[in-house]
Amino acid sequence: MTASSEQKLLWIDGAYVAAKSGEFFDTVNPATGELLAQVSKAGEADIDAAVAAARAALGPWKAMSGVERGRILHRLSQLLREHRDELARLEMLDGGKPIAETPEADVDSGADCLEYFAGQASSIQGEYQEVDGGFFYTRPEPLGVVGAIGAWNYPLQIACWKSAPALAAGNTVVFKPSELTPLSALRLAELAKEAGLPDGVLNIVQGFGDAGQALSHHAGIDKISLTGGADTGKKVMADAASTLKTVSLELGGKSPLVIFDDADLDNAVSGALLANFFTQGEICTNGTRVFVHESVREAFLEKLVARVEKLKIGNPADADTDVGPMISPEHGQIVLDYIEAGKSGGAKLVIGGEQVAVDGCDHGVFIQPTVFDACTDDMKIVNEEIFGPVMSVLSFTDEAEVIERANNTEFGLAAGVFTRDLERAHRVIGELEAGICWINHYNITPIEMPFGGIKGSGIGKENSRRALEHYVRIKSVFVARGAIDAPY
Ligand code: NAD
Repeated sequence: MTASSEQKLLWIDGAYVAAKSGEFFDTVNPATGELLAQVSKAGEADIDAAVAAARAALGPWKAMSGVERGRILHRLSQLLREHRDELARLEMLDGGKPIAETPEADVDSGADCLEYFAGQASSIQGEYQEVDGGFFYTRPEPLGVVGAIGAWNYPLQIACWKSAPALAAGNTVVFKPSELTPLSALRLAELAKEAGLPDGVLNIVQGFGDAGQALSHHAGIDKISLTGGADTGKKVMADAASTLKTVSLELGGKSPLVIFDDADLDNAVSGALLANFFTQGEICTNGTRVFVHESVREAFLEKLVARVEKLKIGNPADADTDVGPMISPEHGQIVLDYIEAGKSGGAKLVIGGEQVAVDGCDHGVFIQPTVFDACTDDMKIVNEEIFGPVMSVLSFTDEAEVIERANNTEFGLAAGVFTRDLERAHRVIGELEAGICWINHYNITPIEMPFGGIKGSGIGKENSRRALEHYVRIKSVFVARGAIDAPY
């Protein structure tokens, strides 16, 4: 069986293969409901085959020099850039993300990641130190076969963020994209082959939670890296414990954005928009709890509403669309239920709050960018991750108070502070319990900067040199000089 535009198979050992069960699942355009492809659904036997291919490819891949591995990753980054329009369109079709976003936010960021780790591949070094009786050195070695599991909101970017550092460090990879966005990872694998990646080094399996679980459980996998919800993260960690795999978990959040009275309000409004409405609000790091100093709250809201009013909801295929559909009708309903909870729970709806119809996109659930004011810390919309275009504005008067309230969450993914007072900016950031912080900006994620949460938002870092630490193990080697002074 070969792959066609209607059927997409698994990618194992550098080639398309059908799942042994012969089962398929549908992937659809979240805006129109159009069937994009039927995707082969992997079972345990297929995952065994993918792991076996990755294991067989490991020896030659890790024996290559970092320069050689980096050269292939670099070629792949160039191929992503050459196929920018095609990949951007694929992400738009499969994920419902506005085409105005996907070229840069998805394709360029994936290519940047490959390019960055292409450079890093040759710079992985050990240590050397003279000690009593000799010296020791350390060997950073690849972990082996990495199982990676992705979420649906940044499918190509997540595939790159996980595979690039893993491959640079000499590991081989079995990647499972989200069942809602299975297509771009397959295209990545095809391009990787074209770039010269040896067969079996990057394998793509498709399926649902059970396929992810088969990876977490698998005795032939040495590490699991997940991007997904907090509950999934806990399950993956528990499953990985059965074989004592290390885990990296990029999970959800309910991040605070704190706007002080001396902030440049236009900038702060830009930050709040970036923190809430990009990708329809389906971003893990979103700063959905917007704490605004009481003295500037009204001015902030006025400026904010004027900008939110201009956001265009529409077909994600249209170049001028700012806000596309929710990833699925089911997820759309969850977001709409949260909006109802906000309304009935006493928050003041400032703008938005409704589902809207979009011509030619009957399947899609399109939700107006929504701002609630007069929110309090105990509200459901303030405490739970919504993963949609819903901003909660809370007012504060005192720095210590806002720090305590901002930290009053199980999560610790991200945080932002807007102020012109440098001392305060760093002081407050120093107190906030979050893994990724921005001063006078929000949601910018340069590849050079470590990315990852703390507390209930996860374990480990992606991007930056730090990511490599999660894909190597350190072997310590003592070398004796002279005779051994044995006690016996
Ligand atoms: P999800 O947890 O439902 O699914 C994520 C992936 O895990 C999917 O591929 C899914 O098939 C798989 N999965 C589900 N159950 C599993 C199990 N028991 N064992 C192994 N794998 C399993 O998340 P989602 O709905 O795809 O994505 C949204 C969530 O992801 C949000 O909570 C969001 O905050 C989070 N997220 C985090 C980051 C980050 O970098 N921190 C980035 C994007 C999304």
